[in-house]
Amino acid sequence: MLGGGAAIDISTQTAERLSKPQPHFINGARVASGRLRDILDPATGNAISQLHLGGASEIDAAVAAGRAALPGWAAAAPDERAQLILKLAELLERNAEAVTEISILDGGLPRPIAEGCAPFSSLLLRYYAGWTSKIAGQTLPSSAMGKSPNDLLAYTLREPIGVVGAITPWNYPFGMEMLKIAPVLAAGCALVLKPAEDAPAAALLMAELAHEAGLPDGVFNVINGLGEEAGAALCAHGSIDKIAFTGSTEVGRIIVRAAAGNLKKVSLELGGKSPVFVFPDADLATAVPGVAMAGFLLSGQNCVCGSRLFAHEKIAEDLAAGIAEFARGMPIGPGSDPNNMIGPLISERQRDRVEGMIAQAGKEGAKRVTGGKRLDRDGWFIEPTLFAECEPGMRIVREEVFGPVISMQTFSDDESFESLAARGNDTAYGLSGSVWTRDLETAMRMTRLIDAGQVGVNCHAAMDPTMPFGGNKQSGWGREFGEAALDLYTKTKAVTLSWS
Ligand code: NAD
Repeated sequence: MLGGGAAIDISTQTAERLSKPQPHFINGARVASGRLRDILDPATGNAISQLHLGGASEIDAAVAAGRAALPGWAAAAPDERAQLILKLAELLERNAEAVTEISILDGGLPRPIAEGCAPFSSLLLRYYAGWTSKIAGQTLPSSAMGKSPNDLLAYTLREPIGVVGAITPWNYPFGMEMLKIAPVLAAGCALVLKPAEDAPAAALLMAELAHEAGLPDGVFNVINGLGEEAGAALCAHGSIDKIAFTGSTEVGRIIVRAAAGNLKKVSLELGGKSPVFVFPDADLATAVPGVAMAGFLLSGQNCVCGSRLFAHEKIAEDLAAGIAEFARGMPIGPGSDPNNMIGPLISERQRDRVEGMIAQAGKEGAKRVTGGKRLDRDGWFIEPTLFAECEPGMRIVREEVFGPVISMQTFSDDESFESLAARGNDTAYGLSGSVWTRDLETAMRMTRLIDAGQVGVNCHAAMDPTMPFGGNKQSGWGREFGEAALDLYTKTKAVTLSWS
């Protein structure tokens, strides 16, 4: 329990919140049921609280609450929905320190990143509050039944998709969950959220703040639990209309199969192995920190992590030396110390997996330029690591590491844009990518050729509420952010009205 476990001075509010096992939140009330599991601080390995593990019966209760709340919420005036969403944004801003502390404690985020979570979440809420009055259908020039538009009115309605089950990962819990919560509420749907068991505390805080904001009971429910229990029950539930999932590609496949029973709609934000191309004309003063952060931000525990670096042979050595120097200058340690740029990996299991992949890269012939070791201290820290002389078949090049590891390959002037992009696209994933150059033709050609849902030029994975985000190939189905997210939570009805 909290106290001995926390490596951070926390507010009374957060201490109180974590002093009891994290319950579920069903129909506007906390519900404590199910066996208990420790929540560990990845920076120390100590328990900071516990969570209740729900299962099929808790999911049933939450889905019933969502189903009962849906008609009223779906029919609420758009402005009423907007006002409630804006109120939630305001409450999140007022509780920003609690958001930061929880992000550091169970998510292992470095403080500077954790401090961005409340502003980012409220930005998303404010953006989607604006959409409540703009989710519109169309009038269409139909010739149905041989009639002219003078004799009939053909139009579409955008209706809420229903009760949404959302399943989220542990990296950036507030952000990952808000990417579901904000558009789901704006679209007039009810929500059952199953947060990651490794970082569950964010979900309850947001549900309780939504309750305080005046959201009707049953619109926003949270069930804590393991993926294979609560998550599986949610995916298989016959009264869930849609599953919105963010997590690994492997679990994404399980979810698609589980959702087949009632053929519920599914959207998936999955893993990545994103290529980063650095051309010889790139401004290295920008590219070095940009490429390093693309690979090392949040210890590489990013779906968009720029883990596959392709460097032109003329600048490869300088780039590698620059990244290595940058990496060695990144302070590593608990997120509670605001100077630390690199925090822990989420779990001992994940730390061991990343270490195993680093060891295998060495055995397969990759040359370690920097990093590669765990820190000799409590918690699950791995140094930012760069491998050069990588080959396309190496495991470090092919598999998502979800750790602070960049693998570098080179290219030369002999290689066409098409062939270089094909090397970048030679992966099952297609989430993100970036091109570092000052040449317009290079930028324009490469952005077209990269097979990913998102591409940056002289930046990597720029995120903004307005910009759609999601994966090609095995990185996912559908797009979040922007107007595109509303397509995930609405269904279109075509109405033809004839009067003659
Ligand atoms: P994970 O797939 O192990 O777990 C994600 C969620 O799925 C958790 O809540 C977990 O409890 C649940 N789950 C696990 N098994 C389940 C099952 N059988 N049925 C239903 N739910 C189940 O992923 P993780 O380790 O938490 O997160 C890391 C992964 O998430 C990486 O692959 C990363 O790339 C991906 N990710 C993708 C995005 C994106 O937007 N594309 C964003 C963040 C993370």
